[in-house]
Parts: sequence; C-alpha cells; structure tokens
Amino acid sequence: MALKVWMYDKLVDEEDAKISVFDHALLYGDGVFEGIRVYNGKIFEFDAHLDRLYNSAKVIRLVIPMDKQTLAAAVTKTVEANNATDGYIRLIVTRGAGDLGLNALICEKAAIIIIIADSIQLYPEQLYETGLKVVSAATIRNHPLSLPPQIKSLNYLNNILAKIEALDKDVSEAIMYNHEGYVAEAVADNVFIVKNGVIYTPPTQAGSLPGITRALVIRLAKKENLAVVEKNLTRFDLYVSDEFFLTGTAAEVIGIVDIDGRVIGDGKPGPITRLLRKKFYEYARS
Ligand code: PMP
Repeated sequence: MALKVWMYDKLVDEEDAKISVFDHALLYGDGVFEGIRVYNGKIFEFDAHLDRLYNSAKVIRLVIPMDKQTLAAAVTKTVEANNATDGYIRLIVTRGAGDLGLNALICEKAAIIIIIADSIQLYPEQLYETGLKVVSAATIRNHPLSLPPQIKSLNYLNNILAKIEALDKDVSEAIMYNHEGYVAEAVADNVFIVKNGVIYTPPTQAGSLPGITRALVIRLAKKENLAVVEKNLTRFDLYVSDEFFLTGTAAEVIGIVDIDGRVIGDGKPGPITRLLRKKFYEYARS
C-alpha cells in the first residue's frame, strides 16, 4: 500500500512527497532527524525524541517551522493515516531550498518537515539468539569539537564509512573509536559491556549520540539493582568483556559475541544482555 507522507504541513501521497534539488539537505546533508518506534500504537519515548530533535535543530541554527505540540500532533496523524501501530517513524527537518552556496541562513524560512511512518526491517529473530559479530572501524568518530555527536544530523558519512568497513568484512556492525582511541559508539547504536557483574558504557562525551534506548536501558538496569558505570572504554575492555551489547531504536538490545575475532563470554549473548532485552520488551509493549 502506498504511504501517506507528511510534507510541510499536510499528508500527501508517497509519490507526491518531493523536495527541491536545491534543498540543502540534499546538497549538504544539512538538516536533522529522528528515528522513532511505535509499539502497540504508542509512539515510544516520544517526548525524548522531540526534545532531541529540537536540540539538534537549535545547535545547527535551524528553526523548525512548527512548535513541539503541533509537530507531535502531525506525527500522530501520520502514524494513524498509515496504520503504523507497530512501526517506525522517520521524522526529518531539512534546511530547505537555498542556492548552490553554503549559506544556510538564506534557507531560513524554507525548512521542510517530512514524516514517514512505515515498518522497519529488524535483524532476524535468530540473530538476537545467536548474537552479532562486529569489527573495529579504522574510521574514527568525528571529533566532538568539529561536529558534536549529540546532533542527530542528516550527515551520516562518518558512520557510513565505518559501516562500509564492516560490510567489507562480512559483518553488519562496526565499533567506532574517538580521536583518543576510546570507544565512541557503533555505527548507529550505543555500546555497553558487562565485566564482573557491572555494566559499563562510554560517556556520551566520548563521541556518541545520547541514545534514547541507551538512557532507557540504564534506567531498566538500575531498576534490576545492576550497577551501571559510565566510563571511557578501550578496545581491550571490549575484547575481555564478559558480555557486550548494543542499544538503539532499530536494533533495540542486541548481544555481540565476537569482535575482531575475539569471542565474548561463551560465544552467546550473556544473561544480563538477555535480561535487559526482556525488560526492554516488557516496557516497550506495556
Ligand atoms: N548512535 C547513532 C549514531 C545513532 O544514529 C543512533 C540512532 N539509531 C543511536 C546511537 C542510538 O540512539 P537511539 O537509541 O536514540 O535510537
């Protein structure tokens, strides 16, 4: 079934959802976005996603042409129009059409809101049982002083270069390190390890997006009386971890069982990973 897509201020048929070739989102990756899940008809962690979108926009000096409440209503309407009760939303704000130069400020009143509510291709269920293999990327995460990783921008080339490294090695994920060699994040997911019963995750200042799934998993872990420590992690810490997992809107919680040929634990997603995945599901579906 053709989708109804929100463009500017209304729903249109998918084939009519078009933007200008002069939109700086196309010319320069200039814009911001969110990927959001819908579980059982409920938009998951909606406020947190909206807050992150408006913060990303503020930092890049992009004025979203709608207030938060009106935008929330538009997202809800798009989900309903597409019957996306268990779906995935892509909420995009482009800089809008300008000219061929870099001047973003001349696009000031041209920003476009695009909302797509569709389904998402999950990893096959089997992979959640067996766990994923990953490799360390040679491509380092953007320096946080050059492009703050908190901005969820439309420019993902840094992550895409790391993803290509993974695909070249026949795995689907790569771990990215920052300019100091500390773990930043996976290509589009946050990193967690477990060592001696304690959960560790890099601070977002190490160069990761402050993941909404990450924040939720930390809350769920604490509720289970598990210790969670944010600290810089090295490649060594990953190699000798007892458990290793990633979190993200699309991936949810997924165990890693091999990094660069080093097997993690007994080669299967560990008990804390499985517990947190279960708690995550219960929370998402509740
Ligand atoms: N890091 C990056 C670079 C991402 O794009 C994402 C979103 N897929 C994440 C981490 C995970 O964030 P969230 O849990 O909010 O989806």
